[in-house]
Amino acid sequence: MTLTPKDTGWIEVICGSMFSGKTEELIRRIRRAEIAKMNTIIFKPQIDDRFSSNHVVSHNQSKRESKLVKNAQDILDLSANMDVIGIDEAQFFDGEIVDVCKSLAKTNKRVVVAGLDTDFRGEPFGPMPALMCEADYLDKFRAICVICGNPASCSQRTTKNAQQVVIGEADIYEARCRNCFEPPEN
Ligand code: ZN
Repeated sequence: MTLTPKDTGWIEVICGSMFSGKTEELIRRIRRAEIAKMNTIIFKPQIDDRFSSNHVVSHNQSKRESKLVKNAQDILDLSANMDVIGIDEAQFFDGEIVDVCKSLAKTNKRVVVAGLDTDFRGEPFGPMPALMCEADYLDKFRAICVICGNPASCSQRTTKNAQQVVIGEADIYEARCRNCFEPPEN
């Protein structure tokens, strides 16, 4: 993962539940690429406007400037001069993001994608399953269950809202393990 692409590109996927450290890891990898004098950029979908509109911010307050895009195609258009492309909150893009990542990797770019693998029902989230299949490198992170302290892979929504996309943080989500996770009934 610390190698410099030479005449090749690849896709790294960082997935996991809420509070598992995905964004922190994305920022860490992008920072290392910057130290290696590579051109980097981080994108995130326009839907996610928590904390600050043009930054990615991890739960432990690491922060880095990011570019908000309306759709996956915009990422291609804005990445021509970049060596390493970060994409946060990838679960909110539509299926086009998969082709965009493949196109970038094919033009010798390193693509680092972070996203929630499952939604509040515990179901696969948007394009993440397909991205995980395309990944050359795949990391699945776990949080800590707030109930029992075991490793946690589930994002428990603590409100009754039934929409798949409800933007929030510790106010409406918490990390739960498999046993403590209580998916909504319908
Ligand atoms: Zn638990």
